[in-house]
Amino acid sequence: MAIDTATSSPLSPPATEKDAKALQFIEETTRNTDSVQERVLSEILRRNAETEYLKRFGLGGATDRDSFKSKVPVVTYEDLLPEIQRIANGDRSPILSSHPISEFLTSSGTSAGERKLMPTIHEELDRRTLLYSLLQPVMNLYVPDLDKGKGLYFLFIKAETKTPGGLVARPVLTSYYKSEHFKTRPFDPYNVLTSPNEAILCADSFQSMYTQMVCGLIMRQQVLRVGAVFASGLLRAIRFLQLNWQQLSLDIRNGTLNPKITDPSLRETMSGILKSDPKLADFITKECCEENWAGIITRVWPNTKYLDVIVTGAMAQYIPLLEYYSNGLPMACTMYASSECYFGLNLKPMCKPSEVSYTIMPNMAYFEFIPHDPSAPSLIKHSPPPLVDLADLEVGKKYELVITTYAGLCRYRVGDILEVTGFHNAAPQFRFVRRKNVLLSIDSDKTDEAELQKAIDNASVLLREFNTTVVEYTSYADTKTIPGHYVIYWELLVKDPANNSPSHEVLDKCCLAMEESLNSVYRQGRVADNSIGPLEIRVVKNGTFEELMDYAISRGASINQYKAPRCVNFSPIMELLDSRVFSVHFSPSAPQWTPERRH
Ligand code: AMP
Repeated sequence: MAIDTATSSPLSPPATEKDAKALQFIEETTRNTDSVQERVLSEILRRNAETEYLKRFGLGGATDRDSFKSKVPVVTYEDLLPEIQRIANGDRSPILSSHPISEFLTSSGTSAGERKLMPTIHEELDRRTLLYSLLQPVMNLYVPDLDKGKGLYFLFIKAETKTPGGLVARPVLTSYYKSEHFKTRPFDPYNVLTSPNEAILCADSFQSMYTQMVCGLIMRQQVLRVGAVFASGLLRAIRFLQLNWQQLSLDIRNGTLNPKITDPSLRETMSGILKSDPKLADFITKECCEENWAGIITRVWPNTKYLDVIVTGAMAQYIPLLEYYSNGLPMACTMYASSECYFGLNLKPMCKPSEVSYTIMPNMAYFEFIPHDPSAPSLIKHSPPPLVDLADLEVGKKYELVITTYAGLCRYRVGDILEVTGFHNAAPQFRFVRRKNVLLSIDSDKTDEAELQKAIDNASVLLREFNTTVVEYTSYADTKTIPGHYVIYWELLVKDPANNSPSHEVLDKCCLAMEESLNSVYRQGRVADNSIGPLEIRVVKNGTFEELMDYAISRGASINQYKAPRCVNFSPIMELLDSRVFSVHFSPSAPQWTPERRH
């Protein structure tokens, strides 16, 4: 087994025969990166040769890389919108894929304010399941004895809708948890969850979280790891405990279940788990009633060996808070995936968050890379350099990920920027650098500059009758509280401050107007998931943004090219802004959100 375990301790051999096979698969696939990629591309092109999309580019049945690269264009979601809309409206002809589109996966990336719809085929579930099946064998190399207890994972499904043509549209994890692949997964002693399926599959987020927490508390001595998909989800669970520990300990004391849990199958499942345990109830009360929540995870779940949460990319902002709640437990970022395609895994899951590199598995899709060099002259940007293959990437360079999937996305720009940190066999390993064009993110929301600008414009309409305009603004993702929230700094020009200036109430309404025009993932986070708090506007004194410019220039910015940053997180700048705050406003209510799409 060549997976480099030099930095791990203790080092164990594969835990089981099954693990040995999985590790062998990783070895073989990564050793043969280029030939696996060649095979994947030719398989995709062969099976989809008769699709409308590939026929349009005159591939004539060719399945080789050169023909593919010379004839098929690199595209974005917006380029594929006409095809995607036809599929959504019920056109069942082979447009993108020869296999029937089984459903749409709704990405947290948005287009025109709505989640992107990613067509998928049934067989992709097998590919996702395959990638999941590799995670535990890798983890078992680094953390022994995970078969001696359980994992407390807070996993959730989200609302789903149907497209006009009758296809289900839902997030990829909802699709996976509801599949037989997950529900009837074979028993794996190394991967036993405290949460019963009924709790994970309950669509009501309160009932789901509550019962998962009850189970986690009851089985607290058996819990060996605590996790969620993203760091924000685990912090939400901690916050939930903070808000609900009294009711939770009451239920545990009496062996009764909170009447707010109304789902009959969930109540039935819980009746087999929940027994009166006054000692445990006393313990929960004692730990949770304290002001100090430092180390609460290790206090409540004392046998936890690590946290299993993604803290790379936008989630890195939560590392300090998770360290605080867990007494500095290691955080394992195990995989890198998206609605479009599951990409790969971290072969050293116990490394520090700053050192996480993901190995893209060459069997998952055909991968190409656009060299990413923001400093390149714009002339080069207009005629981009040729795309590079997975096996040909260079260490130290940054690239934008482009995928061709079995489900029919061809040369599709995912929007992620990755940096090659090394190789595992012949497969490159990547540090996740960032997602392109994301300004603000609290949970899975991704707000870009144009969306923020539009939200400001919409809110500014309310200021017109007060002869007031927003002269400058910037923003900040405040994650010091749970849930985190967007903070928008406004400098206003009030033409007639003595007689006609916007009231506190009007500015509160501006917060809501901004939220109403933010994308549906943001609004879902506010309304259904409670993962984002009310938006805040901080009005700063006149001249503040000029001071900000002076500060930037004193640090070397060019006067000619200076533009106010649209997002800030550098402490001295935050301090400057906060010291000039004149008034503070919050959204008075939640924005509109329903699972249905607006268009
Ligand atoms: P979605 O399409 O909503 O499933 O979101 C997928 C996106 O989430 C990816 O394209 C990345 O931008 C981000 N993402 C997924 N996994 C990771 C990870 N391990 N680290 C950082 N960002 C990630």
